[in-house]
Amino acid sequence: MLFLFLNLALDRMTVAFEMGNGIISAWYPPAGLQIALLMSLGLSYFPVVFFANLISSQLIYHQSPFLFGTWVQELAITGGYSAAAMVLRRILPKDAPFRTVGDVFRYLSVAITASIGVASLGALALTWEDPKLVAEYPTMVMNWAVGDSVGMVSVTPFVLVHVMPWFVRRANRNGLGAGTQSPAEAQYTARPLKRLSAVESVAQIASVVFAMWIVFGSKFGESYDLFYLFFLPIMWIAVRQGIPGVSTGILCLNLGSMVMLRIYPEDIHHLAMLQFLMLIVALTGLSLGTLISERQLSEDGLRASEERLRAIVSAIDEVIFEFDNNGIFRNIWMTDTSVLNLPKESLLGHSIAKLLGEKHSATFRAVFGRVATSGRGESIEYSVGYPGGKRYFSGHVSPIYSPDGQCRTVCMTSRDVSVRKQGEDDLRAAKESAEAASEAKSEFLANVSHEFRTPMNGILGMTDLVLDTEVTAEQREYLEMVKTSADSLLGLLNDILDFSKMDAGKMELSPSEFPFAAGLGEILKVMQFRGRQKNLEISWQLDSHIPEILVGDLLRLRQIIINLLGNAIKFTETGHVHLSVSIAEETANEIRLQFAVQDTGIGIPEGKQAVIFEAFTQADNSATRNYGGTGLGLAIASRLVTLMGGKIWVESKLGEGSTFHFTAMFGLAHPESALAARQLKSTQS
Ligand code: ADP
Repeated sequence: MLFLFLNLALDRMTVAFEMGNGIISAWYPPAGLQIALLMSLGLSYFPVVFFANLISSQLIYHQSPFLFGTWVQELAITGGYSAAAMVLRRILPKDAPFRTVGDVFRYLSVAITASIGVASLGALALTWEDPKLVAEYPTMVMNWAVGDSVGMVSVTPFVLVHVMPWFVRRANRNGLGAGTQSPAEAQYTARPLKRLSAVESVAQIASVVFAMWIVFGSKFGESYDLFYLFFLPIMWIAVRQGIPGVSTGILCLNLGSMVMLRIYPEDIHHLAMLQFLMLIVALTGLSLGTLISERQLSEDGLRASEERLRAIVSAIDEVIFEFDNNGIFRNIWMTDTSVLNLPKESLLGHSIAKLLGEKHSATFRAVFGRVATSGRGESIEYSVGYPGGKRYFSGHVSPIYSPDGQCRTVCMTSRDVSVRKQGEDDLRAAKESAEAASEAKSEFLANVSHEFRTPMNGILGMTDLVLDTEVTAEQREYLEMVKTSADSLLGLLNDILDFSKMDAGKMELSPSEFPFAAGLGEILKVMQFRGRQKNLEISWQLDSHIPEILVGDLLRLRQIIINLLGNAIKFTETGHVHLSVSIAEETANEIRLQFAVQDTGIGIPEGKQAVIFEAFTQADNSATRNYGGTGLGLAIASRLVTLMGGKIWVESKLGEGSTFHFTAMFGLAHPESALAARQLKSTQS
């Protein structure tokens, strides 16, 4: 309805300002209005526009609706505009039709082509009705086309930029506009570049009025000689307000010119020139306005993205430095200014040495150089002295490439890791003090055990002496029990002493040459005695290639074997215990032997096989009550094996028996000692 009314009003106004022969007008604003409507709301409005044109032809131009020419004319006009609008909807951005200067030129080309087309057809229809007008056909076409063009360059931009967004917003609010497109809804078109001061706005309006008065009213110039004066206010508005301001300015200028022409009528021949001048002023204004808006838009975009970048950087709690390859500060971004102990400004353009001192800066320069040449990032940790103490930072240096692919600067992101570092230091200190405490404890234990041994030996010795005297059978039995208890207590003390020695890292082997088979034989003899008490068969087998003389700590080897054989006898009720020794590996100077102690005892559950080598652990706690023991034997054996360059492991099946394996490294004896041993053996035999 509003459109119909406006269209009619504008059309009526055109007639009011009609010049000369009453057929042509300096401009035709309804053309601009119709194009704007079709462009923004779509071709579905074709019938509305057609109807509006038909009404105008009746009410304003009093054309008969029964004439064929009237229909052809209105159809040509509406069709031409619709086609133009259809093309424009395709080629211009929907949300903001005048985004770039290119958009303005595309719009103008289509609009002017459409007006020429419409004018040619429309004038043809007029001459059809009134053949007298044939002679005036070319002038008519030209005036019509230029008039339409002026309408399109002055009214359409204003409607698209100011009216349609308002209309669409209103329609949306009322729930009517759902689905309608909003060509000029983009904020920028309706938004002035900057808020102009009231004085400047008034001055701009005044300059337009003043220019109009000079051009039309004053007697300074012949006809429109001074029309170029319009350029000044239009350019001023364009530069200051961009497309929103200039579209309003052009509309006002054209409306004003119409009024002025009414007040100060002009010669018909000058009218054509006026049309052209109006067109050119409008074109210039629109182009300049768009150019300014476009630039403003890209500046706004740049500023927004810069602000966004700054916001992102400030959200990262790291300091970001840009250095050139010589270690000169190029840029610094940070949130917490206390991170630098110098003001940022005093660092920019200076060497990193200013912040970190000459010594550190050489390291950094070397890293920067490497990163720049290799292109691979590197991490670096450093500390900076502050009045409150040292702070530690962890930095990562990465290359920055310029568009030509060269790396002239590097970026270093730095994070304050003082808290973490402090935590690590505390942890290290705690570990060291715990280790020291444990060492002190082991040392104490070693000393105490040693002190225990002397009185224990006294008890044992004295018991032996008493046993050698005449005692009653009952006394002997009691004394034997004292001796056994003292023996096992001494064994336990020895174990504890050994273990604490090892724990304190003080256990050392004392290797020397020893006859291997003979040494082992002695151990076996003792163990066979123990086995016999339990009716167990104790056997052994040595690889015949094992050298007779080896270099090693026989005492500690005995300790391991006694431990394993002792356990085997302890945990076996029936069956046998077997020791075998084979060669695992031999070199010119060394030999690795593999020992295996096999029994047919109670076995060890699979889940316990790994833990029994740890101190104070037993496979089955209830077994302690049955078999006794402390859980130290295997822990000691395992450590001794490690000292001997070997390893220890077990294979066992619950209820079937266990086999303990261990390897140990021995030195090979000097050839002469080996020979001497062989001779000794042969003389003995
Ligand atoms: P303990 O003084 O208790 O014997 P060890 O360290 O020598 O301490 O052994 C740890 C545990 O390993 C034993 O308590 C026992 O449960 C298990 N164990 C060791 N040797 C054998 C074996 N030959 N047969 C069955 N269990 C064994």
